[in-house]
Amino acid sequence: MNAMVYHGPGQKAWESVDTPKVLHPTDAIIRVTKTTICGTDLHILKGDVPAVTDGRILGHEGVGVVEAVGDAVSNFKPGDRVLISCITSCGKCEYCKKQMYSHCEDGGWILGHLINGTQAEYVRIPHADNSLYPIPAGSDEEALVMLSDILPTGFEIGVLYGAVKPGDTVAIVGAGPVGMASLLTAQFYSPARLIMIDVDDARLEMAMKFGATEVINSTKADVAAHIKATTKDGVDVAIEAVGIPQTFDVCQNIIRPGGHLANVGVHGTSVDLQIQKLWIQNVTITTGLVNTNTTPMLLKNVTSGRLQAEGLITHRFKFNDFPQAYEVFGNAAKEKAMKVIISSD
Ligand SMILES: [Zn+2]
Ligand SMILES: [Zn+2]
Repeated sequence: MNAMVYHGPGQKAWESVDTPKVLHPTDAIIRVTKTTICGTDLHILKGDVPAVTDGRILGHEGVGVVEAVGDAVSNFKPGDRVLISCITSCGKCEYCKKQMYSHCEDGGWILGHLINGTQAEYVRIPHADNSLYPIPAGSDEEALVMLSDILPTGFEIGVLYGAVKPGDTVAIVGAGPVGMASLLTAQFYSPARLIMIDVDDARLEMAMKFGATEVINSTKADVAAHIKATTKDGVDVAIEAVGIPQTFDVCQNIIRPGGHLANVGVHGTSVDLQIQKLWIQNVTITTGLVNTNTTPMLLKNVTSGRLQAEGLITHRFKFNDFPQAYEVFGNAAKEKAMKVIISSD
């Protein structure tokens, strides 16, 4: 089969590799029909994730068809259409029993990281019964790819940890795919204001279509001054969806007393935490890696059309154009790319 293989920082290739086989009774082999590229894959390619070694197949998102299952798999059979979760979970360990699947003792985020991933014609999914979701007949499978990672990440780590409530003023810093996922799912709770902050006007324009009530281009306006002028004393919830010190700093400068700062961004360096100002303001700061325990709920809202995830998809490619898909996604601002879908046919 062909797969997108990592060969060290800056090196990748769409090349021929061995087709995966069932290794454990709880495994399933999935024929991938649609996958996508995540910002995390770009971090890996920069060399920011040293646990990913030469020869690893990238990718942790996708949908497909069950090709084969091990003897212990009881929820799925060959021919079933499935959504692949970015988080693998055994369902039995201490963390799984707390629904902290991201820290499963025999799983967590391993696809395209510690084991071969989904940017391939076939992928082996360990603990298939807990790590796959059946796709309801007639679903828009492209939209469901948004459920592998970005929708649960934006919802769980941004909206739920941020404790968004009706009437809140919510600021989301970063209008990339995960920031957009927070924007879409924050609306479950009817916040009064949803302020999207980014450096790219095209992304901010898209945010307005997805339900932002206002946008701020942080290269053209002073975000803290704008928030100060238009709120009593800051925002109720600040969601950090970039992962650099500057954007974390924006969040800690605009949060009101009693507010929640929910960090979703993947940080590679330390930030300047202004604890001396924040402690007296009863601010809650949260962080996290997605657990995907909300995926079944989100799946219902996507299949019913309540959550319009397909709007995040800006570009479509076939598997043989995988390197080009990386080129476009890696130059997202120039290409006006949000999520790209790569399909088997
Ligand atoms: Zn991801
Ligand atoms: Zn587990």
